Amino acid sequence: MKISDARVIVCSPGRNFVTLKIETDEGLSGIGDATLNGRELAVASYLSDHVVPCLLGRDPQQIEDIWHYLYRGAYWRRGPVTMAAIGAVDTALWDIKAKAAGMPLYQLLGGRSRSGVMVYGHANGRDIEETVDEVLRYRDMGYLAVRAQSGVPGLNAVYGVGRGRMFYEPADAALPSEHDWSTEKYLDHTPRLFERLRQAVGWDTHLLHDVHHRLTPIEAGRLGKALEPYRLFWLEDATPAENQEAFRLIRQHTVTPLAVGEIFNTIWDCKDLIQNQLIDYIRATVVHAGGITHLRRIADLASLYQVRTGCHGATDLSPVCLGAALHFDIWAPNFGIQEYMRHTEETDAVFPHAYHYEQGMLYPGEAPGHGVEIDEGLAAKYPYQRAYLPVNRLAHDGTLWHW
Ligand SMILES: [Mg+2]
Repeated sequence: MKISDARVIVCSPGRNFVTLKIETDEGLSGIGDATLNGRELAVASYLSDHVVPCLLGRDPQQIEDIWHYLYRGAYWRRGPVTMAAIGAVDTALWDIKAKAAGMPLYQLLGGRSRSGVMVYGHANGRDIEETVDEVLRYRDMGYLAVRAQSGVPGLNAVYGVGRGRMFYEPADAALPSEHDWSTEKYLDHTPRLFERLRQAVGWDTHLLHDVHHRLTPIEAGRLGKALEPYRLFWLEDATPAENQEAFRLIRQHTVTPLAVGEIFNTIWDCKDLIQNQLIDYIRATVVHAGGITHLRRIADLASLYQVRTGCHGATDLSPVCLGAALHFDIWAPNFGIQEYMRHTEETDAVFPHAYHYEQGMLYPGEAPGHGVEIDEGLAAKYPYQRAYLPVNRLAHDGTLWHW
């Protein structure tokens, strides 16, 4: 079998997605997600201009060799653009291999470790009571786990607080919009949110919270300690993780479980965090961490230290990434949870898929491959639209902060 064609499809059915399609001389094709929110065209160019010419004529069954050919062969290793491009190639090749075998992808990984994939949804409210109502609404839809975010009194725009229900999309402007931030207001407010949530929701629903890299390590330790009575499933991205050692300081002050890694690209970004048992969940996912091949390596390292997976699953990852992640999730022995933000109807129509949601779980389906396709004719009706994630500034003096 040989790769006969590979091309990049950029479309914007509600938001931008970059998809790589690889075709073979035996008529099989596979697709991979290459979306990097706010920097989409950089990955599209990396693929079209630098990767596709190297793929033509290669044997698509040699997934491991092609992975290293693109990683070591580039000389310039790692980084989100490179790893999203490699992730797209890898996902498309696993799709082809599973289709050639006539099996759903999870069978090639070793089969199912569980019956379904527990997911968490996003409950966002402008204030505490609106967040409570949203968590209860998710619970009524069968969710076993819900991430809760609330607006903070005195701040005009806060991460996770969307304008509409179900389809929150922060990349909302042709130039970055600006939010404001006060750590003091946030730290006063957030324990009150979870105290109220436990009163309203009880203890049978897992509650999660995302700090979005806003705190220093010692502030994160204080928040984790304040939230201990409410038994969070995890506290996510409590502090930026370029310095992996920073998590040691948080760990010294709280037993609230910690999750990090949605912006990680390789095993090197989380090696120290995992080996020193400074986190409980690793959030890397298929598209941004080099595909199934590399994500499996991260999960295997994590399993040695009882760190579980919790793949990123925002809507800026296409249904192709979600579909592939579900095959990974249902296999991974140390799976923890999968993030699940629903895509819009327009997006789902462009990417027909075999996976489905039922009572708090996602199921990857039994279609050969990863079970997600792209309707290229429909995709062509949604051309690329420049869009950025917001930036964040400190409310009292305008210092640029972490969004
Ligand atoms: Mg997050």
